Amino acid sequence: MRNFAALLAVTLLGAYISVAQTKKAPVEAIKQADLKRDLFTLADDHFRGREAGTLDELKASVWVAEEARKAGLEPAGDDGTYFQFFSLNRERVSDRSTVKIGDRSFNLWKDVVVYEPAFATVNAPIVFIENPDTVAEATIQGKVVALQFTPQGLTDPRKSIPWRYNAFVISAWARKLAAKGVKAILFVSDDLAEQAFPRATQYSNRGSYQIEGSMFPSRRLLKDIPIIWVRKEALDLVRKPGQHLDAAIYTELFTYPSVNVVAKVKGTDAMLSKEYVLFSGHQDHDGVRNIEGATDSIFNGADDNATVSVALLAIGRAFHQQPGKRSALFVWHGSEERGLFGSTWFAEHPTVPRESLVAVLNGDMIGMNNPDSAALLGVVPPHLNSGDLVKIALQENAKGPKFKLDTTWDKASHHELWYFRSDHLPYARKNIPAIFFSTLPHPLYHTPGDEAATINIEKLTKMTRWMYATGFSVANAANRPRLEPGFKLER
Ligand SMILES: [Zn+2]
Repeated sequence: MRNFAALLAVTLLGAYISVAQTKKAPVEAIKQADLKRDLFTLADDHFRGREAGTLDELKASVWVAEEARKAGLEPAGDDGTYFQFFSLNRERVSDRSTVKIGDRSFNLWKDVVVYEPAFATVNAPIVFIENPDTVAEATIQGKVVALQFTPQGLTDPRKSIPWRYNAFVISAWARKLAAKGVKAILFVSDDLAEQAFPRATQYSNRGSYQIEGSMFPSRRLLKDIPIIWVRKEALDLVRKPGQHLDAAIYTELFTYPSVNVVAKVKGTDAMLSKEYVLFSGHQDHDGVRNIEGATDSIFNGADDNATVSVALLAIGRAFHQQPGKRSALFVWHGSEERGLFGSTWFAEHPTVPRESLVAVLNGDMIGMNNPDSAALLGVVPPHLNSGDLVKIALQENAKGPKFKLDTTWDKASHHELWYFRSDHLPYARKNIPAIFFSTLPHPLYHTPGDEAATINIEKLTKMTRWMYATGFSVANAANRPRLEPGFKLER
């Protein structure tokens, strides 16, 4: 009897504490050791960089789902499972494609890059030009226009980063030249573009991806006018008077499965549990890319975005220990890196009623840079879509980690357009209150050097606790966060 009485007292005390605690999130439930263990597992070579549309992404997604199950989360995907599959349509340049300049045949993905998929056979003279802005239509119409990469006239800060520079120059000129009736566009590296050439072979060979109903109708610059890029050593050959291009470019089409992992912790309130706070991240990254001269081929994406993938597991464990009044929904989106496809799909086909999503707390890359600084996006107009939600996040930062918040990356004028590059975006476009937690890019961003060992685990823990405390507060608030009246993004 004594024991029973003691047990009853403890149980009542426990109930009292849990009621009292609903005011403040028990952030200690987020354990640094769990985050570290999971991060080193998910960002390990075992998962081969988790590339969207490959078995590696599926294998990583199964691991995430199994950890979610072990954490006590319920399945919330399709048909009572943890998964929501969707189809990824892929177009890529076929290896059968051939490029010949004069008498020389070029090896695809070794000494020539076909920049994007196209169907075209081109047999035409090459006109080498100095200035793509002033070249007369009559000079290049029906011919192959060739030019060397040049930063001339480009003010964008990205021009100094080799692997951004090439894309930037190509997109600056391709459409303008195509409009003058050319058969093909032939770029020759300058010194800066040459540095990016090995990387470009491993990106352009992927081709382009699409899902049904995507917000990006096509990422292609041109349709069936090939954009061909050769190394600097070919400059003299290309410039030779009377030179000729003979190219046959083919495209292959595939459909691959990709997948969102979806799980939930039911809320405690009879009515409010029908509403959801959505915690969002992406489990995919860039896979295996054999870049000439690189010492590693696996892009483990530890910061991008194993950090948030494991943060969501930790937040799930905390909600399982102490649920909020509203339910918590966890979505690990697939195919983020190929164009925000998992989140686009889920926002279009949510597995719970869309109007029941009260807020989206997305994270992408939360474990790098200065230990005391971070960014919250969706705060600066026109990206601000819910002042209520932002207020809660800022209050939780003040109570907890006290990060100095960098707001420059949230500005519409920021050249990286960071706000438009992660999974909160499709939800914001559906007028769901949404914010984006990030510790911003760094020199290892999208390189094989983004490894678990470089992550600041203490900072990752603080960021995870901040996301959790924000979501916990939203889950227990009397009212759902309101959408900003007249919310409209600038693009
Ligand atoms: Zn990412």
